[in-house]
Amino acid sequence: MIKIKPNDIAFDIDGVVADTMSSFIYVAKKEFGINTIKREQITSYWLEECLNVPEEIIKAIINQILEDPFKTRLRPIEGATETLGLLSEFGPIHFVTARPIKEPIEDWLKTVLKKVPSRRIKVHATGQHDIKPQVIKKLGKTFFLEDHLETCKAIHQAGLKAIVFDQPWNQGQIPFTRIKSWQELRKLLELTS
Ligand SMILES: [Mg+2]
Repeated sequence: MIKIKPNDIAFDIDGVVADTMSSFIYVAKKEFGINTIKREQITSYWLEECLNVPEEIIKAIINQILEDPFKTRLRPIEGATETLGLLSEFGPIHFVTARPIKEPIEDWLKTVLKKVPSRRIKVHATGQHDIKPQVIKKLGKTFFLEDHLETCKAIHQAGLKAIVFDQPWNQGQIPFTRIKSWQELRKLLELTS
């Protein structure tokens, strides 16, 4: 079993800390009257590949989620706030997201992570997936918790350690550590000094 020092890990946000898919399903229903989407249907990271929803609508929903996490009812994934609260006692927590804009998700994190002092929440918005590995490297982190398999592969190729947060859209055989919950991550962390 791997052991992770608290300052050695950084985090993706959507699909890892934030339950973005539930937000997607909520907005699809409320704004577009689409009430047929089920979580299990989301078997690809690229929604247009697995959902029978026009691409323009998918884009419109995603834009709303990017711009206003509160209005789109974005919620933290179970156990995330507790584990991140514990980690924050060791230093700042770094989040690396491919979101193009940082402020809305930073405000959201500062609101939901009540046990984490605001100054210890650091968000890096890359705007694209490909540069995540170099940002993580620059931060001096070895481990990265991520739900997008392609990004996990890129992180691995950059000599870093990807940990996959299990989701319906990242199934399949992979050579990386896979965790199914934040409780499971907690067991891998060296929280006692
Ligand atoms: Mg993600």
